[in-house]
Amino acid sequence: NQPVLYIVTPTFARREQFPELTRLSQTLFHVPHMIWLLIEDTSECSPILSSLLERCQIPYVHMVAPMPAQFLVTAKKPRGVSQRNAALQWILTHPELPEGVLYFADDDNTFDLRLFKDIRKTQKVSMFPIGLMGETGINSPVVRNGQVVGFISDWFGKRKFPVDMGEFAVNIRYLTYNPAKVAMPFMVGYEEDGFLRGIVKKWSDIEPLAEGCTKVWVWHTTAEESLLPVINSRGGDSNLRDL
Ligand code: UDP
Ligand code: MN
Repeated sequence: NQPVLYIVTPTFARREQFPELTRLSQTLFHVPHMIWLLIEDTSECSPILSSLLERCQIPYVHMVAPMPAQFLVTAKKPRGVSQRNAALQWILTHPELPEGVLYFADDDNTFDLRLFKDIRKTQKVSMFPIGLMGETGINSPVVRNGQVVGFISDWFGKRKFPVDMGEFAVNIRYLTYNPAKVAMPFMVGYEEDGFLRGIVKKWSDIEPLAEGCTKVWVWHTTAEESLLPVINSRGGDSNLRDL
């Protein structure tokens, strides 16, 4: 009875959204025993994404969780935070869910299927390298004697856990010990750190994966933000799905 993977993907409307989600859904198609939580940064589920989810044969939850209005005017936005918090609340409010592992898979990242095999082993919280991050080209935990003892990152700030969203996974049982502390802060740059500070009890709880953090099985492939407008959906299950 292998643990379920709870794959959480925030997404927002832009020209690249549909191709990115097509790519991600066809990666996830090859991952057995998972539930895809796709949470849109908008007020109503988009029909075009509903039909994509219907077609891709992956068990899914389709929700919306718009970014709070106060951040719409700020230069730096806490991207994907309300959506991830909605997913966390969904998991916490469904205690009947089968045991499993949570992973935040942004819609623009790229994944090697070996990552999903590996994170399924997560007992508490696991960490592993992510490629194409910052000037160094990589973010990674530093492992000594099988233990995570530090991090490689091009920006540490005041972070205890200077890791990217795609650099860790959490067993959902580990979340339920102290549900009141399970939340991602609306603090640009400190989203991962705030979330992990709330749940990680001790350094020895962190499990290094990807062969002792020597392999890169996920990449932070950010698509350049397009200045062109989003193509308006005609609604319904139209031929736009093949656009
Ligand atoms: N995102 C969102 N609303 C936004 C901007 C981003 O829901 O206004 C989502 C996006 O689709 C992605 C995640 O949040 O899954 C992280 O955003 P992005 O990739 O733009 O951030 P970066 O990787 O550059 O930190
Ligand atoms: Mn990204």
